[in-house]
Amino acid sequence: MLNKVQRITYTYLTSEIKELGILLHAMKVENQYKGTAVFKFLDKFKTDEDCKAYLYDLKFSAGFQCSKCQSTEAYEGIKPFTKVCKSCRHVESSTSGTLYHKVKFGLRKAFAIVFEITTTSKGVSALQISRKYDINKDTAWLFCKKVRISMGSSEVHPMVDKVYVDEFVIGGYEKGAVGRKAESKKIKAIMAVEVTDKNKIKRVYTMKIQDYSTRELTKIFDKHIAPEAQVHTDEWRSYRPLKTKYTIKQDKKYKNSSPVNLMIQQQKSWLRGTHHRISSHHAETYFNEFSFRINRSQWKDSIFHKCTERMVQTENRNRLQVSQVKLMTREQYVQRVMLYESMGVNYKVEYGRVKLAA
Ligand SMILES: [Zn+2]
Repeated sequence: MLNKVQRITYTYLTSEIKELGILLHAMKVENQYKGTAVFKFLDKFKTDEDCKAYLYDLKFSAGFQCSKCQSTEAYEGIKPFTKVCKSCRHVESSTSGTLYHKVKFGLRKAFAIVFEITTTSKGVSALQISRKYDINKDTAWLFCKKVRISMGSSEVHPMVDKVYVDEFVIGGYEKGAVGRKAESKKIKAIMAVEVTDKNKIKRVYTMKIQDYSTRELTKIFDKHIAPEAQVHTDEWRSYRPLKTKYTIKQDKKYKNSSPVNLMIQQQKSWLRGTHHRISSHHAETYFNEFSFRINRSQWKDSIFHKCTERMVQTENRNRLQVSQVKLMTREQYVQRVMLYESMGVNYKVEYGRVKLAA
């Protein structure tokens, strides 16, 4: 059974997705590419046109929304895999408004790169991609970054079970350096790990933080942890103020063997092994990639599809957010609906926002 907040959240999400016209999960299951075998993949995507067709299905299966005038009516364009807006005649291609738009090296290579990044268990560095696919180093790096951005959490399913949280630093290049100066060069981060009753890893999220203050530690709680979760941390004092909102158990004998510390070690060795050295500025996109792999490891077969779906979605979402549609956060929405419900007034949901009904 869903509780009231969950029910309202659910209504919000379904309405938001519907209103945005990106109901991508409605895409027919048989259209999804499944599998991790290279030759099967190459057989399916033989030409750029095959890739366009795939993106066309992904982008328009949930309906059309014009990027210029937001109209939802369209007819098929003269060029294959395009749609033309009925009201303003704007031509919408299958790649426009997606992270696949105008890739310099062709869609087929782009698909192959996404396939390789997502299906290789440890991932691939931009340098390897550049050599393997014969593309410029900077172009490769930029495209890989787009892929990692698309791997970011949708933030719609906060962790609700047993969650372990801990902070850590990345960057061991100042060997011998001690004190605050050395510390300042390192990337500070916080990780939350959700586990099952049998302590098996369910999900992982990592965020970059500026320091270890309550204000910084709160970020991961607000973004990824539901108030009903059972949170475990070490005895660091900055976690204490969070106890007013979250159930937190602080434990002295917490370090080393806890699931979060095992995941921190795993993430560190993955970063060292695959990406070698990461800059603080882009750290979060690498954290995205790590979480995406772990959180989807049970659904390896659909991992390429999921990432491509995100590549289509991410840009669309950003575009909608920067244009006229200003979305409410989940918390704002829940609070507003609860307020209106307690007042007993009529309200309506539009473009992911809730308003009083006239
Ligand atoms: Zn239009």
